[in-house]
Amino acid sequence: MQIQENISLKPYNTFGIKVQARYFVECFHIHDICDAIAFQKENKLPLLILGGGSNILFTKDFEGLVLKISLFGKKIIKEDENHLWLKVQAGENWNELVEYCVANNWGGIENLTLIPGTVGAAPMQNIGAYGVELQEVFECLEAFHIATGEIHRFDKKDCKFGYRESVFKNELKNQYIILAVTLKLFKNPILNYSYADVQKFLSEHHITPSVQSISEAVRQIRLAKLPNPAEIGNAGSFFKNPYVSKKHYEYLKRDYPNMPAYTLDENTYKVPAAWLIEQAGWKGYQEGDAGVHHKQPLVLINKGNAKGHEIWQLAQKIKKNVEAKFGVTLQTEVNIY
Ligand code: FAD
Ligand code: NAP
Repeated sequence: MQIQENISLKPYNTFGIKVQARYFVECFHIHDICDAIAFQKENKLPLLILGGGSNILFTKDFEGLVLKISLFGKKIIKEDENHLWLKVQAGENWNELVEYCVANNWGGIENLTLIPGTVGAAPMQNIGAYGVELQEVFECLEAFHIATGEIHRFDKKDCKFGYRESVFKNELKNQYIILAVTLKLFKNPILNYSYADVQKFLSEHHITPSVQSISEAVRQIRLAKLPNPAEIGNAGSFFKNPYVSKKHYEYLKRDYPNMPAYTLDENTYKVPAAWLIEQAGWKGYQEGDAGVHHKQPLVLINKGNAKGHEIWQLAQKIKKNVEAKFGVTLQTEVNIY
């Protein structure tokens, strides 16, 4: 384990923000993590656990220890006629895991194709896309308890998964380092292609639904709509899709009859944040190098040299404006440091 000083975090965040970490360490083994945490405690440093940096906005230099998780490996730990349980180390790349499962025809995560980042970060916000969430295949995880150095097991109910939420973003925030995640995958996949864009893609291309074809459909839809962080800095959706009450939904629908919305229960509706932001006139907006993507307004972008605080200020302006226009408060999905 090598603790480095004054390291640029630009290569470690997909927004491409130029900030520095006072200390930086990459951990390949559990004993590296133990040593790094001992150093952090001894020097009373703030701690930041880093995966692929695809859900983070740095607004200033980090005056503490950045601990990058690079634990690798995966193994089948159990199998029966219909399922297999795959234990995956936290540093593995999420999309490479999806490709591996798709190639083996193990169903469950094909709709989550092309989500950037690591396996260890996936439970943090219960990653989801195209009608599927991690929790549907999640069996358990192992996590390092920072305060005691013990390793604790979390089953699904312990994680308190919600819409882009988990216990690790709330009650247990900054208390655990996720080390490995076990997924329960399907040998006889149950396919989910109910999402409109996926259905449309399959029917337009006359493709029979399968684990492979759904993964490919999602891949192509995403490539056509979302900015590639390797080309233009971003961290995916900046805000979560808000939930509104039935009363609020009906009130908005009177003024905006074309407003899309999805019913969650008889009193709750989900309204796409992208639609609200676009209606408020922000799509394609730019202020210096900070901007709003021209195809997907939920994605804020760094066109080159934007500072983290400039992107954050732009996000605040959008939030205020959407609140004033629709009475809907957007919540940030990206983790702000
Ligand atoms: P990081 O950004 O490194 O970290 C995110 C948070 O998790 C931080 O608070 C960090 O401290 C914490 N963390 C990371 N690893 C660990 C660990 N091992 N233990 C404890 N804490 C940890 N998300 C979706 O849900 N659905 C999508 O469809 C989606 N699409 C995206 C598309 C693009 C183009 C981009 C850029 C992002 C997208 N995201 C999406 C967001 C992001 O990819 C996911 O949230 C991903 O899981 C983040 O992984 P990461 O390793 O990059 O996490
Ligand atoms: P979209 O298809 O334009 O749909 C807009 C929003 O409407 C989505 O966010 C989705 O909510 C909701 N929606 C659409 N069809 C739905 C249905 N049948 N039932 C319930 N809700 C529905 O969305 P998009 O921007 O192209 O993204 C496609 C998928 O990828 C979405 O699931 C989105 O969450 C995911 N994605 C996430 C990120 C991220 O960073 N978090 C980035 C890019 C894409 P949901 O978000 O709940 O699905």
